[in-house]
Amino acid sequence: MSMKEPKVEVGILFEPQIEFVLLAPYRISGKEVSGKQVVTYDEGKILWNGRQYDELLFEPLQESAAAFELLDVTIGINFHWERKEDQRFQGSLKIIVENGKLTGINVIHVEDYLTSVISSEMSATASLELLKAHAVISRSWLLAQIRKNKEIAEAQTDYSAFTQTDEELIRWYDREDHTHFDVCADDHCQRYQGITRASTDIVKQAIAATRGQVLTSEGKICDARFSKCCGGAFEEFQYCWEDIKYPYLAKQRDYKVDSGKLPDLTQETEADRWIRTSPEAFCNTTDKKILSQVLNNYDQETTDFYRWKVEYTQDELSALILKRSGIDYGQIIDLVPIARGTSGRLWKLKIVGTKKTLTIGKELEIRRTLSPSHLYSSAFVVDRTELSEAGIPGRFILTGAGWGHGVGLCQIGAAVMGEQGYGYDAILLHYYIGANIDKLYD
Ligand SMILES: [Zn+2]
Ligand SMILES: [Zn+2]
Repeated sequence: MSMKEPKVEVGILFEPQIEFVLLAPYRISGKEVSGKQVVTYDEGKILWNGRQYDELLFEPLQESAAAFELLDVTIGINFHWERKEDQRFQGSLKIIVENGKLTGINVIHVEDYLTSVISSEMSATASLELLKAHAVISRSWLLAQIRKNKEIAEAQTDYSAFTQTDEELIRWYDREDHTHFDVCADDHCQRYQGITRASTDIVKQAIAATRGQVLTSEGKICDARFSKCCGGAFEEFQYCWEDIKYPYLAKQRDYKVDSGKLPDLTQETEADRWIRTSPEAFCNTTDKKILSQVLNNYDQETTDFYRWKVEYTQDELSALILKRSGIDYGQIIDLVPIARGTSGRLWKLKIVGTKKTLTIGKELEIRRTLSPSHLYSSAFVVDRTELSEAGIPGRFILTGAGWGHGVGLCQIGAAVMGEQGYGYDAILLHYYIGANIDKLYD
């Protein structure tokens, strides 16, 4: 597997008009340009300096020294903090026509892209080994995306699917791929702001030390998923998304090799005991110093994610489920576990109401239905109290474990491992069982 360092095409903005400043000389179809430029969508083409084009590519004359600035880039699309800012980038700028608008694309070396992404995603207090592990995961994900876009002949996989009967609604959600570039600059892919903000030295070190390295299995780049906290045991892929079993995303305790056997958490009694207790695990920590490496400031207010509790009154829960699912169950009589995955996460839950009974799944559908935003995880057990004479509970208590889907690397557990002196390769091979770390390019 020997190749040159690839470039990645990042879709940055989608507007009828794009303004940008070339801060050094750039080349376009043999001509040299610099300074402020305006391109406008015009009858299915790009209008630039009074002429129409199908596509424009501005390439720096001297790659190492050049940069350009995109004006008024919208960041945090659909978030409460959505706003516009000018952003600065290295590499080339490509303009294409897409959906009746212009798309501004940054074409940049993979390693430069990763430095920017990891600098903005991870805390500068993270250990070098944790950052190295993250660099390999991000690179694996990115190169798999680029490869997918190159393999045009390969059929695109569905990003969401569901099966529905009178008794069951099982649905899962996965990423939708982009067609005219490899990744977008938003949270949908990985948040990317070019060189607008300075990259941190420790991140540069982590990127350089792992240059070209990705996780592979059976000759293919791994689908290196990760989440905040597994809850003590790894979930398997097929319980969260499509029904595929990946050998490297397998069940295991999130702890030292000699920490004892993982109970079979697909069994209700075992899952009940596991969730109601607090077994030793790498991610079973309340150490603020370690948590701050992985969680941003807002998240740090939450430290009860290894084991957590949520309570609802009957009125709150029935109104919530109606609002979130659009289905009127009437009063909620019970939430019955039907099927759990290897981490104890429910992937089928039966909602029993006075008007309707339905089994829902998979884990994200359950988390969305039972919370105004997302429940921490679907690894929970339910206690009903204040039962009326008719058997309607007045109150529901959900006791849960972990944060996120629990498949692949557990960020809190990995941060603890890094702090305890494990190398990045040991961390990666703990979470991606039997995978290899391969260097794709020098
Ligand atoms: Zn995207
Ligand atoms: Zn964990």
